[in-house]
Amino acid sequence: MLPHERLQLIREKLLKEKHLKISALSQAFNVSEMTIHRDIKKLIAEGIAEKTFGGVRLALDPSTSSKRKNGERCILCEKTVDPKHAYRLILKDGTIETACCAHCGLIRHKQIASQVSDALVHDFLLHTTGSASTMSYVIGSVLPTLCCQPQILAFQDAHIAKHFILGFQGKLLSFHEALLHLEHMTHIEHHEHNDDELQTTASMRHSNHL
Ligand SMILES: [Zn+2]
Ligand SMILES: [Zn+2]
Repeated sequence: MLPHERLQLIREKLLKEKHLKISALSQAFNVSEMTIHRDIKKLIAEGIAEKTFGGVRLALDPSTSSKRKNGERCILCEKTVDPKHAYRLILKDGTIETACCAHCGLIRHKQIASQVSDALVHDFLLHTTGSASTMSYVIGSVLPTLCCQPQILAFQDAHIAKHFILGFQGKLLSFHEALLHLEHMTHIEHHEHNDDELQTTASMRHSNHL
């Protein structure tokens, strides 16, 4: 098994099981604990894992990962990422791309959909982490914009999202509806540009909003 394959399997295991022990991983993959150590160091550096005694757990506390990920930039608009709103794309080759919020994350997800193995996003209210494709999204609420416009808020529980809409308005979208919605809204800005132009346009748009 190639190192990046092992890393990807560990990542998937972490998403599923939330806690992993180095000793158990070392046995499961038949490699030394030192090797597993190096693997999980990468996951910690990416901000998806946190060190525990003898292993790692899925990073759930945005404040601790923000210390490590200080100054991380959005893959799409280059805005500094606030881990509370981050949308992380886990690619099939094992790399992770981080977007500042569900807005940029969903656009990026759509752009490189065939390379994405999973994506993680935080619940807007509860700050729990879930797989982006299982979340519900609220667009167009009256809440002030926290990151990018149009603002898209992620909710793990569609029922809670509906209650949120009763108070703060907006429209409930499934993952696929949210992808389509953004594609329509951003068609002109996000296509027919090379990457540099895209990033410049996007950051200019951001500074206009600040
Ligand atoms: Zn962004
Ligand atoms: Zn954003």
